[in-house]
Amino acid sequence: MKKIYLKKGRERSLEKRHPWIYSGAIERMPEGLQSGEIIEICAHDKTFLAKGAFSRSSSIPVKVWTFQEEEEINKEFFRRKLSDASLLRKKIYGNDLPEAYRLVNAESDAMPGLIADIYGKYAVIQITSAGMDHFRDMIGELLLDYAAGVYERSDVESREKDFLEQRKGHLAGEELPQEILFTENGIRFAMDPVNGHKTGFYLDQKESRKTVMNCLKGCRNVLNTFAYTGGFGLAALKGGAEKVLNIDSSLPALEQARKNAVLNGFTEEEFLTECADVFSFLRKCRDCGKTFDAIILDPPKFAESIKQKEKAARAYKDINLLAMKLLDKGGFLFTFSCSGAMDDDLFRKVVDSAAMDAKRDYRITHFLSQASDHPVSGNFPEGRYLKGFGGIVF
Ligand code: SAH
Repeated sequence: MKKIYLKKGRERSLEKRHPWIYSGAIERMPEGLQSGEIIEICAHDKTFLAKGAFSRSSSIPVKVWTFQEEEEINKEFFRRKLSDASLLRKKIYGNDLPEAYRLVNAESDAMPGLIADIYGKYAVIQITSAGMDHFRDMIGELLLDYAAGVYERSDVESREKDFLEQRKGHLAGEELPQEILFTENGIRFAMDPVNGHKTGFYLDQKESRKTVMNCLKGCRNVLNTFAYTGGFGLAALKGGAEKVLNIDSSLPALEQARKNAVLNGFTEEEFLTECADVFSFLRKCRDCGKTFDAIILDPPKFAESIKQKEKAARAYKDINLLAMKLLDKGGFLFTFSCSGAMDDDLFRKVVDSAAMDAKRDYRITHFLSQASDHPVSGNFPEGRYLKGFGGIVF
């Protein structure tokens, strides 16, 4: 096995079991390494540190598979990793697995570059690293222990960092139907594995949708922004809200949202949709004095990297400030950020300053996070990306 050597002192992050090696940490590596190739990582003094996968990526050329010298990276290795991931889910769900859940959460399940979501009897996966891409077919086959069919949604730009082409299609076992039906928190959803966002659905918000369901009983006029296929809007109605207006800029997402409303027996008077840009829509409401008794803000990732943090903070501030102005006294605000680059403190500051500028008092009642089947490994703090608050505006 070929070896790469780190600069003196740069073994520290590996000693803490962080799975990434940045290009600046590498002292020397052999010529002609293939993307995805398994290599040994050694400290400056030649001691063994880890085994990992090489990628031609400019910023993170190595992602670690194991810190144990005797461990082979083969089919059994991945079988064990999947079994560990499955065990975690069985533990958190007390053996009663939901119909839709995340089975593999990449680095936080010790499988850099792999996301696997289960929807009913099927798995939809996404591969984002050269190391994992190398084992793509094997992973598809191994996942047949957990699903009858596996579909790949590796159609994401981030693959380009590892010089991988975007790809989507059937990977293993049964072909997936065009539409998969599943229940979440007692609500029926249909999702399109081929054209939906990410793997088709935002499973990371499952627990926060449940919180919304529990909090909005009796609300007469809920605004669900960045609604996608209606997850939070349907949770609000299921929990006893009377009417929800769902805003999204994607027509296909809203079409699916309306189908989901019908699946659950809600009418067009209860579940309204409008295709609009949320920033403009909130301004329009402010200008015409429209108000709501609950607002959900679940925007896409505004900061792709730490460099975009400030610009993103301004965008979060903008929507939060507008939302606070549009809320009736005693109204509920649920606000989220899924940008890893925005840490909890910064997001809190943004929301606090929005309340201050809106001259409102925002009393946080719920500190929210990604669902527990999206674990965060202690050696990979980057795995915590989704954060949110629920609370009352006075
Ligand atoms: N809350 C959803 C997930 C939201 S994902 C759920 O629980 O399932 C973010 C959504 O924001 C996507 O559907 C995307 O189409 C939409 N979106 C992105 N930018 C937007 C904008 N400026 N205005 C309106 N919608 C936008």
